[in-house]
Parts: sequence; C-alpha cells; structure tokens
Amino acid sequence: AKPVIGFLGMGHMGLPMAINLHKAGYVLKGFDVVPAAVQAAQDAGIQTVATGAEAAVDVDIVLTMFPSGKHVLDAYREYLLESAKPNTLFLECSTIDVSQAREAAALAVEAGHRSADAPVSGGVVGAEAGTLTFMLGAQGEDLEEITSVLDHMGKRIVHCGGYGAGQAAKVCNNMLLGISMIGAAEAFVLGERLGLEHQALYDVISSASGQCWAVTTNCPVPGPVPASPANRDYQPGFAAALMAKDLGLASSALEHTDTDAQLGSLAAALYRKFSEEGNSGTDFSGIINAIRDGSL
Ligand code: NAD
Repeated sequence: AKPVIGFLGMGHMGLPMAINLHKAGYVLKGFDVVPAAVQAAQDAGIQTVATGAEAAVDVDIVLTMFPSGKHVLDAYREYLLESAKPNTLFLECSTIDVSQAREAAALAVEAGHRSADAPVSGGVVGAEAGTLTFMLGAQGEDLEEITSVLDHMGKRIVHCGGYGAGQAAKVCNNMLLGISMIGAAEAFVLGERLGLEHQALYDVISSASGQCWAVTTNCPVPGPVPASPANRDYQPGFAAALMAKDLGLASSALEHTDTDAQLGSLAAALYRKFSEEGNSGTDFSGIINAIRDGSL
C-alpha cells in the first residue's frame, strides 16, 4: 500500500506538489493555516484536516512546505512531532537555514522519528509539471522510500549526503545563481555602453567561457531568449524577494562557517536592496534595470 502523507503548507509550491501526489493515488491529509489554500486543495479533490496536529496523526510521512525555518521548527516543536506515530518520516521540503534543517532533523530523531531535508528547485512551473529537482539530505536506508514519493513531484533527485546536506547544496547553488545573474546583467549593461547589440553579445557569451544559466535560460535583456522574463516586463519567473531570501540563508551559512565569500555577501546585500525598493515581485533578472540606472 502507498504511504499516507500528512501534507502541510499548500501555497504556491505546496498545492501543485500535493495535487501531483493526489493524482498519483496517494491519500493525503492536507492542511494550511490559510483557509483559501485549504479550499483550493479541497477543490482539487484532496482530503484536508482541521488542524496541523491532525495532519500528523496516523500517517507514514509528514511533508512540510512552509515559508521559512521558523515555521518548520515551531510546528515540529508545538504539535507535529508529538502527534505522529513512532518512526514517522518527516520530509521537510521548504528552503530553510542549514543549521535549522539540522536542528529539525535532530528534534525528529530525538522524538523517535525519521527525517530528511528535501528542498527543491524549479519554481511553480516545475511544481505544476512535476519536474522539480530535489536536493536530498537523508540517511541511506530511507532513500528508497523517499525517492518513491518524490518521483511523483520531480524529475531529478540528488542525494547530497546526511541531514542538512540538501539545504547546503541548495544554498550554494542559489548563491552562485545570484552572483552570476548580477554578473550577466553587468556584462550586458557594459556591452550596451560599448555599442554592442544584445544579440551579438548573447551569441558570443552563449558559446564562450562566460556561458551560464543566467544568460542562456533567464537572459536579463529581451530578445535573445524569447522565454526569459525580460521579454514580459520582468514578471517572474523567480521573484527578487525569493532570491533575497535565499541569499540571506547563504549569508547566514557563510557566517556560521566563517567563510570569506565577498561576492556572495555583496550579492545578498544588492538583492536585499533591490527587493526592498519596490521590486520584490519582479523577476530577479530585473536587477539589470537598477544596474543600468545606477540605483543600487
Ligand atoms: P507560500 O508562502 O506560497 O506557501 C507556504 C504556505 O505555508 C502558505 O500557504 C502558508 O499559509 C503555509 N503555512 C505557514 N505556516 C503553516 C503552518 N504552521 N501550517 C500549515 N501551513 C502553514 O510559499 P511557496 O512559494 O510555496 O514556497 C514554499 C517554500 O518553498 C519556501 O521555503 C520557498 O523558499 C521554497 N521555494 C519556493 C520556490 C518558488 O518559486 N516559489 C522555489 C523553490 C523553493
């Protein structure tokens, strides 16, 4: 029989993920603190429960998809861990601080449960299509069970190591993404001022050593990559507020590990400023406009 899954946090990412599990035949106990999210889940045919605690009662897996680590730790401490039967698998899919992920795992294990961190990349589009990438921090003996569930929501699952390793991989990747987008934007603005056409610079970078996802998939100028957010007035895509959040987690990890990563720290500061100055809902490639007008 398929495991029964308590699914908490049915927001932008969680709801389409829950829908994919529901379609694959899993019985869910869905819960969100926002009534409209519960309603949307019910409309999709998903069974819901009245409280967060109930979502953990008599299930095999508790899956959380919350905004931040504080939400996760509070829910674990206040009701999830005590409501679940022994040996329940706590599958934590939110993007949270590495140290919080390790704390969550330790709390779960201490309470007699099993734990894994499985943050995702791929955004709402990937959640809807079931093509997310999961970065997994888990014990080897739980891998098969975890993979069989994640397979219905993602197309790639990378086992990165033990507790916290999934979050660690995610924070490193997104730090590089933030840095490379700023670099791509600076290169295009400099190119403009040197009289280069966007297409000409794109043709060179995309086949030369500056090649990167920020240019070839999410190109910050309109034209060369028709599907990039720059072609629709920088509607996300990946919103600047989320990049600012992820870079905040990177800053915290840099501090915890006493790592001198000057570009990562600077990218965090620039995205925080960009997001706070009215661009939180803009695609993160929109930072090119702030670079062009010198407002950062
Ligand atoms: P969201 O805010 O849309 O959804 C989070 C949901 O959790 C909300 O509906 C909220 O009401 C609910 N919630 C909060 N506390 C709760 C509780 N105690 N019990 C039940 N429900 C609770 O956020 P999202 O965009 O779906 O992102 C979720 C996570 O995934 C975040 O950590 C985010 O960083 C990460 N993520 C997001 C994207 C993206 O493109 N949106 C991509 C990759 C990763």
